[in-house]
Amino acid sequence: MILFKSNRCSICKVNRGYRFCLKTGKNICWHDCNELRVDYKCPDACKYSLIKHQNSVSQGLLQYKTNADSQTEFQDLLKKEMDKWIINPQEVFNGKIPIQMIENEQGKKEIETLFNNMNTLNYVPLIHLKERLKLDNLKVKSHIKNYEDLAFEFLNIIIEQDWSKLIDFMYNQEHYKEEKYKLNFIRRISGNKITKKIKDYDLISSALSEDKNQALVFFEVNGKYDLTLIFRKQKDSWRLTGKIFGKPELYNGENEAIQQVAVLLSKNQLSNVYKLLQKYSSIYVDSADFQYYWGLYYTFAKNPQKAKEFFFNTIEIDPSFYEAKYNYALILHSEKKIEETKQLYEEILQVAPKEIKTMNNLASIHIDEGRYKEAKNLLEKCLKINKNFEIALKNLDRVNKLIDSVKN
Ligand SMILES: [Zn+2]
Repeated sequence: MILFKSNRCSICKVNRGYRFCLKTGKNICWHDCNELRVDYKCPDACKYSLIKHQNSVSQGLLQYKTNADSQTEFQDLLKKEMDKWIINPQEVFNGKIPIQMIENEQGKKEIETLFNNMNTLNYVPLIHLKERLKLDNLKVKSHIKNYEDLAFEFLNIIIEQDWSKLIDFMYNQEHYKEEKYKLNFIRRISGNKITKKIKDYDLISSALSEDKNQALVFFEVNGKYDLTLIFRKQKDSWRLTGKIFGKPELYNGENEAIQQVAVLLSKNQLSNVYKLLQKYSSIYVDSADFQYYWGLYYTFAKNPQKAKEFFFNTIEIDPSFYEAKYNYALILHSEKKIEETKQLYEEILQVAPKEIKTMNNLASIHIDEGRYKEAKNLLEKCLKINKNFEIALKNLDRVNKLIDSVKN
């Protein structure tokens, strides 16, 4: 009787067995799939089997049709093929064996000439061949870092727990120059109970969006957790927009999850909102939306201290999220932290210049501090946008009276 089915690769027993192998009839990992398929004897029906392209120049080397779930996997496959190629007789060299050819300069030159004249694509790791055969004159294109390379670097830094270094990978990073955001980022990421325990990882797959501006890189970490890193192109380099503790498919489910929470919150079903937020915010750990909904939840639950913490997380993740900034500022305003409040209201008006609630609140700070003219300007602007905005009408009335009393 089988009590539970292992999800490990049936060959190495270490990595996740994510792929059904038609040759062995078992689930295996891509590392072992590469070991197996490089002999060109996999069943044709398998989409991962190698199909050689015969080409007079290269004799099919590095040219075949197959599938790979990541660039790393494909590069590994190419390296394995190179390893095999160098120890076998090659027709292109009249049956000579590359590893023996390099014993003399003439042989080395023959190999270098072949590859230097071949138009290999950018992703072919010729550097591997160069190093294995010590081909000093082999021209190698410099490797351009892709999102998988960055994902490895990012995870290595997590393992080292050098938290502040992670900011360099972030898509939105300008605002982290401000100490309060930087500290919050570190507190949030180092406080995640899975993140701080990450010791090792194995890449499973990666996928590029149709417009090629977004990439999802999927890992298994610590031999059990799913982790998807989301990258977006910023100018010419890749930057991280967030992590999902789950499979990449979950990326498309985020909006629906947000909707579910929003509906329950509008019905004031707080205990259900709490349960859903617990579930979703442990998956979508870097989602500004779920942090915002936690803020709203605690506002409804009359816990302004907690609400403040989550509204701040929201603006740390997404500084353009002005509804969160407004709610955060409102709590500071009620705590009479006027300078900070004022700065936040001004920041909101820079991105949302027609935000009348913010204008009115800022106007009332101006009134309290005796800047009646500035207050009056703001309130008039406010009423131009919405002439029935009652609090602004009252405030304008108040400020007009104050101006009159100063004159008299
Ligand atoms: Zn394996």
